[in-house]
Amino acid sequence: MRGSGLLADRFGRVATDLRVSLTDRCNLRCTYCMPEEGLAWMPREQQLSDEEVGRLIRIAVERLGVTEVRFTGGEPLIRRGLVGIVAAAAALRPRPKLSITTNGIGLERLAGPLRDAGLGRVNVSLDTLSPARFEQLTHRDRHADVLKGLAGAAAAGLTPVKINTVLMRGINDDEAPGLLRFALDHGYQLRFIEQMPLDAQHRWERREMVTAAAILEALEPFGLQADPVSRGTAPAETWLVPGYLDAAGNPARVGVIGSVTRPFCGDCDRTRLTADGQVRNCLFATGETDLRGLVRGNASDDEIADAWRAAMWGKRAGHGIDDPSFLQPSRPMSAIGG
Ligand code: SAM
Ligand code: SF4
Repeated sequence: MRGSGLLADRFGRVATDLRVSLTDRCNLRCTYCMPEEGLAWMPREQQLSDEEVGRLIRIAVERLGVTEVRFTGGEPLIRRGLVGIVAAAAALRPRPKLSITTNGIGLERLAGPLRDAGLGRVNVSLDTLSPARFEQLTHRDRHADVLKGLAGAAAAGLTPVKINTVLMRGINDDEAPGLLRFALDHGYQLRFIEQMPLDAQHRWERREMVTAAAILEALEPFGLQADPVSRGTAPAETWLVPGYLDAAGNPARVGVIGSVTRPFCGDCDRTRLTADGQVRNCLFATGETDLRGLVRGNASDDEIADAWRAAMWGKRAGHGIDDPSFLQPSRPMSAIGG
């Protein structure tokens, strides 16, 4: 209920999973995310400082019932204060689960310091096993760095290491079986994500999208089996891959996040904070609530918590991508935080 301690909405959902974008900048240019020339980055003074972001995470954990914090971006590993921000979040009580979504560049070096700061897990984005295709897809020759980042994360114990893959028709949609074999061989857990209308170029087209159904069809040779473990609020539907174990010795799994064709909005437990201090109650929200203004205007923790609760109370029932009136949010994915 509005006014109570938690981040509840009118449909009975309660947000406990906070996604914090630490920067809108990135060292790659994935075609489904941003144009080759990059974007007009957020001016530095608009970005929350390390202390400001730390304060908002503290309010979320101590007053609003947030139990998980995932750092994202843009590319979170290029945020200078990252290790300190993670350490500050790990010192909160009750201690939140901490994870990061990254393109993996620089993770080889940072995995140890991040683990020591209190990070629990990583998701690394990888869309192809081919260095040439990687360059075509991201406009950067950094494939080897991503593979080293994955290995570094596993060596540091940031497990289970998950891989996020977006397939695009005619570009990498032939790689589903190869990527799964690669993940199984290395003990990583692969999750395919349907491409969403969140690219800065507004080029997304539904008929071009590789659907969850098409991905599962491509994985038929693996004889996937229904996962007996409930999905809970996780966006990924998971399947067991017979004959394989993960790094911890459990049955290996593969996930498919059907954000567009199999939406999970009814179970959504997310709240999002952008690098410039705006709360978004949904990836696809068209409105935002400005917490930076409150932070810089000397608002109390109570006032900030109230504004955050009000922002979540207004969350819509679903993203409505299939609705004829659907409007792509004006912020691209890289500026919201995926
Ligand atoms: N730079 C980091 C990375 O790539 O992992 C974190 C930010 S990125 C925006 C977070 C995730 O969103 C990545 O797994 C990326 O593949 C995914 N993503 C970006 N644009 C997308 C889109 N249009 N549809 C679906 N997923 C997308
Ligand atoms: Fe950068 Fe991640 Fe967007 Fe790729 S998906 S351009 S790595 S923010």
